[in-house]
Amino acid sequence: MRSHRAQDWIVLVLAAIVVVLSAARFAPASPTSLEVYPSPSLTRQTWLSDYNPALKGTPGDTPVLVFEGAEPGGTMLVLGGTHPDEPAGCAAALVLAENVMPEQGRVIVIPYANASGFTHNLPQEGHPSHYTLDTPNGRRTIPYGARLSNPVHQWPDPTVYVESVRGQKLAGVEARNLNRAYPGLQNGTLTSKVAYAITSLIREEQVDVSVDLHESSPEYPVNNAIVAHDRALDLAAITAVELELSGVAMNIEPSPESLRGFSHREWGDNTDTYAVLFESPNPAQGRLRGKTDEQLIIDGQDPMYLKASSRGRLYVPYTEEGTPLAMRVGRHIASIAALATSHTMLAPDRGIVLSGLPTYDELVSNGVGAYLSPSER
Ligand SMILES: [Zn+2]
Repeated sequence: MRSHRAQDWIVLVLAAIVVVLSAARFAPASPTSLEVYPSPSLTRQTWLSDYNPALKGTPGDTPVLVFEGAEPGGTMLVLGGTHPDEPAGCAAALVLAENVMPEQGRVIVIPYANASGFTHNLPQEGHPSHYTLDTPNGRRTIPYGARLSNPVHQWPDPTVYVESVRGQKLAGVEARNLNRAYPGLQNGTLTSKVAYAITSLIREEQVDVSVDLHESSPEYPVNNAIVAHDRALDLAAITAVELELSGVAMNIEPSPESLRGFSHREWGDNTDTYAVLFESPNPAQGRLRGKTDEQLIIDGQDPMYLKASSRGRLYVPYTEEGTPLAMRVGRHIASIAALATSHTMLAPDRGIVLSGLPTYDELVSNGVGAYLSPSER
């Protein structure tokens, strides 16, 4: 008996050690890790809860940064981190916020749109909780999260998620997907409150053009693409031509009327904004990938994707160079710049003229870290 008890204690102590070590390994990012060091053209820094007070003090609240030029004009909203496991979206929003100097109009940036999603990783995906880039003045750590809000913050999931506009039915976990939650509910679930706040911001700030930055796996058909709401198709077409001139090819995908809850659909249907979504190819979220680590996030090189590409199985060009983060962020930043130029051509009195941003070629040559401030921790 006595020896059994001793064994029980040993097992308990070992279990406790495993729990403590696991907790340290998978500890959620703290709100202070949602770092952003805005450019000198920042005129206002606020929180998303200003647009839905029900978010105040919740893990869904997140910084909103407003940059304004000397000449009045239109307003552009840019969201990174709707899906926190699509790193080029968040990184591009950070490059935008830390470099942009608007000459005309305003740009509003939300780098960590689903803040709750940055506090955990998807189980069994093997994703790191963050990645680190070299900047000219030190290292910058950027959180890498999950596609959905943290279940600790929104629980339980329904068996079936019935979205609020048309009653479209999706799998229960999709109730925690910010890009299925629009236009959102003021006092709904945490994810729905975040969506409501963003829709309210678009209305209150009279946002002319709204952009949601995403990534998708290289084997997913909608990639290197601008997904545009019906009213934004002309704007998207002119943007694609602008991009082509600078050597960046983007497909145009009309937002399907039947897909409800998406930013490009509900922002366009429920506000006056021109709504678009950009996609870039990220091997770290694809099903074909091998070893998943910080290196894969940053260099985008994976031998299995190279093999798939040689057999014609991918929807994007993929060579030994892979699809590095710098290239994907370059596509997003170039697309934001081209979108602003195109909108200014179509509506000069609501012009948005942005300077201070690196070009696609500069990002590819110098890397993303060259355009970010180091972490202060
Ligand atoms: Zn996404």
